[in-house]
This record gives sequence, structure tokens and C-alpha cells, in this order.
Amino acid sequence: MTLDASTLMAVTVFVALIVGVLFLLSWSQARRMRALAILGAAHILGAVASALLCGRGMIPDLLSIAAANAMMLGAYGLIWCGARSFAGRATPASWLLAGPLVWIGACAVPAFYASIDARVILASSLGAFYCGAAAAEIWRGRKAEPLVSRYPAALLLASEALLYAVRVPAALAFPLPRGVPPAATPWVAILCFAALLYTVAIAFLFMALAKERLEREQRLAAQTDPLTGIANRRAFEAQAGMLLARGAATLLLFDIDHFKRVNDTYGHGIGDAVLVGFCTATRALLPADAPFGRLGGEEFACLLPEPVEAGPLARTILRAVAGMRAESVAGLAVTVSIGASTGTALDDLLVRADRALYRAKALGRDRVVFDGAAPVRERAA
Ligand code: GH3
Ligand code: MG
Ligand code: MG
Repeated sequence: MTLDASTLMAVTVFVALIVGVLFLLSWSQARRMRALAILGAAHILGAVASALLCGRGMIPDLLSIAAANAMMLGAYGLIWCGARSFAGRATPASWLLAGPLVWIGACAVPAFYASIDARVILASSLGAFYCGAAAAEIWRGRKAEPLVSRYPAALLLASEALLYAVRVPAALAFPLPRGVPPAATPWVAILCFAALLYTVAIAFLFMALAKERLEREQRLAAQTDPLTGIANRRAFEAQAGMLLARGAATLLLFDIDHFKRVNDTYGHGIGDAVLVGFCTATRALLPADAPFGRLGGEEFACLLPEPVEAGPLARTILRAVAGMRAESVAGLAVTVSIGASTGTALDDLLVRADRALYRAKALGRDRVVFDGAAPVRERAA
């Protein structure tokens, strides 16, 4: 099989063009994902650059060498910019233009422009930088936002960076023979073939990343209470079910005391702030692996895996809540009542904790009562 560089390049032009248009179409349906628009622009610019490269010998060298490579570097810069945009980071125009401008500046130097090896080295170095930087950008976000396609996408961009990086010592070690048109050298055919594969694969992986992000956002939204940011009832029940499958656990059921009064006295906005404050203070005291969720209104629950000592922890939470202060609202004091139960079935735990909570309220609030325990005074202070 022989790889014909000109044919491959022509195919790449059309593939990159189609991919660019598809990116723009995807962006038109998910406008806030600007990375898709940037990648669309990158591929269309790359298609124009490839078309100019194809014209080598038929159009002036200024277009097929100087302008084509400047555009190609601009396209790689846009891919980097798209990866940054996907990570929520803006890219200053000067960074984006630096690569093409360095290239154009170098081309203005006759000795550089006359040396194909020098041109290969500079263009490849800049290309390697942009691909490597894009790979790092995709890789960086893997912990905060675990998306499966991050790994192949980062790997692909890193391998493209490596290919360009290898081309630099290769150009130094094996200078192109004089008089041979670049299109006839194996390097160009290999790079054209690689460019075609990368174009398709990068498009596929970035589309997959965008889709995975949207799915993840929807999944998280369906599991999260929008006001407090903690798990909603459904997510809490699912997490609690998983924990209980491993053994017994203690449920703490919280109900803010006289919350209606807080709303009536200070307004609904302050009431909302109290709910958020309660969640922040409580979450900080709970073990990281303990499910904590809003069951509804001003009722919350957490499930403590054994052998966490629920009594001392509950009293610490009571103290923390009673100590909450709002700078803007003088005199606002909040307390919470807690009902606790230990067992292995969530329904049963909820019924018993609710019974204990009822007793905590009846005994004067701001306390924890354990289901089945004698009604001792368990106040915060
Ligand atoms: P108790 O000490 O017996 O629990 O009394 P309470 O006033 O806390 O209980 P009640 O069930 O009478 O009132 C709960 C109030 O919580 C009523 C409701 O308007 C308010 N509430 C429920 N959800 C929200 C919310 O998201 N934000 C605000 N600000 N208030 C809410
Ligand atoms: Mg209530
Ligand atoms: Mg209440």
C-alpha cells in the first residue's frame, strides 16, 4: 500500500470541513458550551490551511507555505483554546496568535524561509506545544469532573504532540534531500495520514466529552437539592441503601426548631439562608462518607456508618447550630431537634427516628433523642 500525500490531504480538507460544520451545529444546540464553537472554527481553519498546503506548486509559496502553516498553527491554537474553554478558562487572544505570529515573523527572515528543515522544526515545535497544552488542559480536570472520554482525548492530543516533537530531532538527523518535493517524502504522507485520523478521533472525543458533561450535569441536578446543594431525598435514599447493604448504621433525623417562626419574623430569604447555613455547619462535622440529604422543607437526615459514635457527634452538631449567627440579622437564634435510630432497614430507621424526633420536640427541642432510649435530657449546652 502506498500512502499518497496529495490524496490524503484532499480527503483531510473535506473531513475537517465537515467536522467543523458538525461542531458548529452541535454548538447551536448547546450554546453555553463555547468549546464546541471554538473547535468548529479550529477545524474549518484547519481545512482551509490543508487546502492551501494542497496547492503547493500550483499557488504562490507565500500562500502554500507561509499562510498555510500560519493558519494551521492558528487551528492548533484554537484546539488548545477549545480545551481551555471546556475547562472554563478563557484564552487571551495574544496567546492564541503567538504561534502564528512567531511563524510569520520567522518567515520574514530569508535564511529561515529558504530552509525547509528550519521551517519543519519551528512549525513542529509550535504544533507540539499547542497539542501538549491541550492534552494537559483535558487531563487537568479529571478529578473535579471525571468524564470517561477525558483519558483517550488527553492521550490522543499527547500522542499528536509527541509526533510533532519527534519530527524535530528527525528533521535534524535526516535533513530532507535537496530537490525532492516535500509531498514525495514519507514524512509528509505519514503526517497527512495522522492528521486525518486525529481530525476524526478528536472530533469524536470532544463530542463525547460534551455529551458526557451534559449527562453528568443532568444526573447531578436530579440528585441535588437546588437550595442547599446537598443530596435530595431520592439521592439520600439511594446512598443510604448502599451503606446499609454493608451493615447496621445510625440515622440522625434533623428538624429545625420553630422554623416557621424564623420565616415569619425575618422573611423567607433569611429562612433559606438558615437552611444553607445549617447544611454547611452540619456537613463539616459529619464523616465524609456519611450520606446527608434534605428530606424536604426543614427536615434533613444523615446516616452514620458503624462504629461512629452518634451521641457525641449529634451533640456537637446541636452546639454548632445553636452557635450559628447571621451578621445581618441581630437576635436570630436557630436550634435543631434530632431523632436517632440504629438498624439495617431504611424505612424502619426513618419511622423510629421520626418517633424519637417527635419526643425531642415534646421535651422542649434543641436536643437529640435516641429511639428506645429513656427520655433523658440531651441538650446542646
Ligand atoms: P417545629 O419546631 O415543631 O419543627 O416547628 P416548625 O415551625 O419548624 O415546623 P413547621 O412544620 O410548622 O414549619 C416548617 C416551615 O418550614 C413551614 C415552611 O414554610 C418552611 N419551609 C419549608 N421549606 C422551606 C424553604 O425551602 N425555605 C424556607 N425559607 N422555608 C421553608
Ligand atoms: Mg418539620
Ligand atoms: Mg421544624
